[in-house]
Amino acid sequence: MAKEWGYASHNGPEHWHQSFPIAKGKRQSPVDIDTKAAVYDSSLKPLRVSYEQATSRRILNNGHSFNVEFDDSQDKAVLTGGPLQGTYRLIQIHLHWGSSDGQGSEHTVNQKKYSAELHLVHWNTKYKDFREAVQHPDGLAVLGVFLKIGDANPGLQKVTDALDSIKTKGKSADFPNFDPRGLLPGSLDFWTYPGSLTTPPLLECVTWLVLRDPIGVSSEQMLKFRKLNFNAEGEVEELMVDNWRPPQPLHARQVKASFQ
Ligand SMILES: [Zn+2]
Repeated sequence: MAKEWGYASHNGPEHWHQSFPIAKGKRQSPVDIDTKAAVYDSSLKPLRVSYEQATSRRILNNGHSFNVEFDDSQDKAVLTGGPLQGTYRLIQIHLHWGSSDGQGSEHTVNQKKYSAELHLVHWNTKYKDFREAVQHPDGLAVLGVFLKIGDANPGLQKVTDALDSIKTKGKSADFPNFDPRGLLPGSLDFWTYPGSLTTPPLLECVTWLVLRDPIGVSSEQMLKFRKLNFNAEGEVEELMVDNWRPPQPLHARQVKASFQ
């Protein structure tokens, strides 16, 4: 693939395998979660989300989404429990969304698409850093949270307020004191399965933890995400919409549920 990967028809998910053959691998993400096929696993521990000391630094338009970046130089914001062995440190959160409210999530539930899907990305502290972690099958734990249309979500206000300052690819802004706890639903019941990054290089390094319960978002908040640009400043405007990869084959994998 001569062109950089993206989400447009000419360089989108259907083309990624040309540069990243693992796109057709046996452990790719996202997947459709068939709730009847998911197996309750009584040995799964509760998830423990310890974000009290989370320290956000910056918000960045990377040309594919916006990333809120966290200080991951110490165990400040960590994820443990569930199927995880050891401690996973929060490094960044980002969102996938649609061109309309009827699509946008990457995982689907019984084929149902949500309007958006939040990813909270953590790396396994048995490795030196994120870059080393992604080289290993147990390197990352990504918490996925669906967004469903409803009332405006106050937990997203700081993010939507910052978007004007990072409209185009490569722009960033200071983004201190953002509390990711405001983006979690009341219940941490989850599905889990072994998978991959959903953007190139699509590495098969992720333990996925997809929360059953969505959080809310208003249609007005969704409109603000859709004003972001895939392009850099001064280039032809391409609205940042439909930055989601569709579900991939499950192959031999089983989705486990933490709840009955
Ligand atoms: Zn993602």
